[in-house]
Amino acid sequence: MFTTDTTNKFKDLETPFYYYDMGILRQTLEACTNASAKYGFHVHYAMKANFNPKVLDMIQSFGVGADCVSGNEVKAAIDHGFDKGKVVFAGVGKSDKEINFALDADIFCFNVESVQELHIINDLAKAKNKKANVAIRINPNVDAHTHHFITTGLDENKFGVNIWQLPDVANALRECPNLQFLGIHFHIGSQITDMEVYKSLCTRINEMQDWFEDHGFPVKVLNTGGGLGVDYHNPDTNGMADFESYFEVFKNFLNVKPGQEVHFELGRAMVAQSGSLISRVLYVKNGQKKNFLILDAGMTELIRPMLYQAYHDIENLSQESKPSIKYDVVGPICESTDCFRKDVDLPESFRGDLIAIRTAGAYAEVMASGYNLRDKVQSVYSA
Ligand SMILES: *Cc1c(COP(=O)(O)O)cnc(C)c1O
Repeated sequence: MFTTDTTNKFKDLETPFYYYDMGILRQTLEACTNASAKYGFHVHYAMKANFNPKVLDMIQSFGVGADCVSGNEVKAAIDHGFDKGKVVFAGVGKSDKEINFALDADIFCFNVESVQELHIINDLAKAKNKKANVAIRINPNVDAHTHHFITTGLDENKFGVNIWQLPDVANALRECPNLQFLGIHFHIGSQITDMEVYKSLCTRINEMQDWFEDHGFPVKVLNTGGGLGVDYHNPDTNGMADFESYFEVFKNFLNVKPGQEVHFELGRAMVAQSGSLISRVLYVKNGQKKNFLILDAGMTELIRPMLYQAYHDIENLSQESKPSIKYDVVGPICESTDCFRKDVDLPESFRGDLIAIRTAGAYAEVMASGYNLRDKVQSVYSA
């Protein structure tokens, strides 16, 4: 991915920094929107994956909607030109302030995660003399076959309402005149690469929409959530999420009735491969049992390996020779968990070498923290 030209430019820059390849981002967005347009599907970008202003501007230019999980994300989406009529708002703990903000902004839909929340949104909408569009987030108890830290659709997860609570949901909807029921919403987890999982999800969605229609609630919106994964092991040879297969599964297995809309909320798949975290080797420590590369980037810039045991490809951009040494690649933060990966095969590496940690466009910059009173690092963009 990195041409000699690019790495030469890196040499003059203060590290660490996030590097965004805007060409890759554009290609990914093209692939995604072309694949979804074939079936008339509606795509929302899940903003929590990356809300870097330039990245948002590029995504917005493709005309997709926004999937937000906080009031500030709703605000940022609208400020960046996303159509408010394409903004959806999920989250298991929306505050009154956030709900009021979204009501004032006239967003497309609240994805509601509990019976109590339905009543609260109804009360707040009533106070404003408004009707709020709602979709019910249902926990379908489908195993996403992904890391358990990023599974969200099982009975034991905190998200959504469980199937046995649906009669209560129906009662609440009947009692809430300031709510307009639009449809049903799901999001079963993240970094899902097994398409069988989405087939199972389709089966559940088909059952759930029948349930609502049988109970007198016409379903206009089927929102399947997001979660499509990317290849963290092969960012160059397999740099594109499989949008074609993904949308095709829903085309083939979802029972879409006339007048219904199918919505998606993709985050990672849209942005992950366009970003890298670039850092320098500060120190090389050769121990008896272990060699350590100590970088100037740490869990404060990319916490996924420490938080989710996530794998990221790590490359030395300054050495041309073949990998010959195993290093534990670690950050400078005063925590033993501040390790990007153990036993990474790299060429012999030296102080000052540039190290790229790949596939850092999603859930990296957005999770940066100031722990250890670290500086906020810059972002650098390709043309
Ligand atoms: C995070 C999230 C998404 C996007 O997940 P990805 O794995 O990044 O695609 C979609 N919908 C909801 C409700 C989310 O919380």
